[in-house]
Amino acid sequence: MSEKFEDSRLRLAIQKKGRLSDGCFDLLKRCGLTISHGRDKLYARIEELAIDLLLVRDDDIPSFVGDGASDIGIVGQNVFEEKRLMGASVGKEVLALGFSKCKLCIALPKSVEYQSADQLNDMRIATSYPEITQNWLKGKGVSAKTVMMNGAVEIAPRLSIADAICDIVSTGATLDAHGLAPVETIYKSEAILIRADAALSPEKQKIYDALIKRIEAVQASREAKYVMMNAPRSALDKITKYLPGADAPTILELTGQPDMVAIHAVCRESVFWDTLEELKALGASAVLVLDIDKMMA
Ligand code: ATP
Ligand code: ZN
Repeated sequence: MSEKFEDSRLRLAIQKKGRLSDGCFDLLKRCGLTISHGRDKLYARIEELAIDLLLVRDDDIPSFVGDGASDIGIVGQNVFEEKRLMGASVGKEVLALGFSKCKLCIALPKSVEYQSADQLNDMRIATSYPEITQNWLKGKGVSAKTVMMNGAVEIAPRLSIADAICDIVSTGATLDAHGLAPVETIYKSEAILIRADAALSPEKQKIYDALIKRIEAVQASREAKYVMMNAPRSALDKITKYLPGADAPTILELTGQPDMVAIHAVCRESVFWDTLEELKALGASAVLVLDIDKMMA
């Protein structure tokens, strides 16, 4: 394989290693796409569609897409939004992908009793996301100074670099270990697919459309279940109404049981245990809930 990109292949920038990359590789796999060699290189090739992967740091993805070095990319909304607010050319968001979910929180030393955002007035807030933070502060009518830090933000209050921090919080354990507690959630993020503003060549547009179709099929099938059961014919209406997000179900005769039918339905929303209990109470039996691998409208 040549070590150069081919212009006819769509370029997709993803994070080489980190909290976005597992989700990206998993998504590609679920789309039925295999990657031709290991993750250790700078780029990799997808076999089934004419796509080359650029394996880079997440921070570089918005500008790569904005400048056209990559046609599309997958990045955290938080990073995308920060760069966009900075005025950088970052392309545009196409799809939210539902993984790498996280939130940006303002946190204060636990000793501070927090009541409202007014308290943040005149504070110094250490963060890797000064634009998103300032944007939120502005919306609250609060004037505070942001101190840019590229990592280890949680140590700032102890070093007296700042009075508060604004950082990504998942479990809160890191904050807790540094004597901090979250007081405001200012931004919620997940992985998004972004694309360049400029039109793609017709050749690349076709590949892009095929990829989007696959991603949408994966997303549609993620929560969806194929539900089968036997039920009294008389309970059909009630049961149909009870199936979450189902299209018209398929009703099948049961040999030798004229009062009973088999119901098959695709439920687009989560099927919980409660739903099964309810179906049983309505007379359903032999209820089966199956995962759906792929789904295309
Ligand atoms: P890189 O080396 O590529 O610059 P990084 O250290 O900046 O990586 P990661 O920690 O891998 O970044 O996080 C990448 C993105 O994953 C974040 O910008 C955010 O969108 C998301 N993310 C961060 N923390 C979490 C978390 N705890 N759970 C889920 N997603 C997260
Ligand atoms: Zn990064």
